[in-house]
Amino acid sequence: MDYYSVQIRELIEQLNSLPGIGTKSAQRLAFHILNLPEENVKKLSDTIVNARTKVRYCRECFTLTDNELCPICSNPARDKKTIMVVEDTKDLAAYEKTQKYQGVYHVLHGAISPMLGIGPEDIRLKELMTRLAGDVEEVIIATNSSLEGETTAMYLSKLIKPTGIRVTRIASGVPVGGDLEYIDEVTLLRALEGRTEL
Ligand code: ZN
Repeated sequence: MDYYSVQIRELIEQLNSLPGIGTKSAQRLAFHILNLPEENVKKLSDTIVNARTKVRYCRECFTLTDNELCPICSNPARDKKTIMVVEDTKDLAAYEKTQKYQGVYHVLHGAISPMLGIGPEDIRLKELMTRLAGDVEEVIIATNSSLEGETTAMYLSKLIKPTGIRVTRIASGVPVGGDLEYIDEVTLLRALEGRTEL
């Protein structure tokens, strides 16, 4: 990329470092940005910086939000006795899109993966157990159906069962290795309704 000036090269490299953006896409995005009016570019970069500075974890469910409590946890109409455990905020968004789930969530921010050296202490498990000391009737485990997701589900059910709280797992029907965010709403609802006792 020696034929590009240093600034252009740096821009391409930065974009290229984002997930899912290959060199070609990075170049396309870089030239798109360079052709935008300056004020639009400023707006874009301000939005990125603002989001990064203002967004934090919800005190209750640990989803990414801009308040101490996310809109779901602060909604009195939501059933706080049912907690759905998901791997990340994108999975929560996928279930919210169905508009059928009335409970609350717990976002782990990852899954247990012995292969990648990610243990139970590396995800928000301790925080979940703290929440379960309160008035909770059911924990729905909605981690992905990947090896990591299943390992996490198994670990969680072993941990929660002794507390006497009902533990369920969303139905498989969700393709193996499938990320929840790519699954359509009907499939997600079916998975939720067909959940089984662990
Ligand atoms: Zn929350």
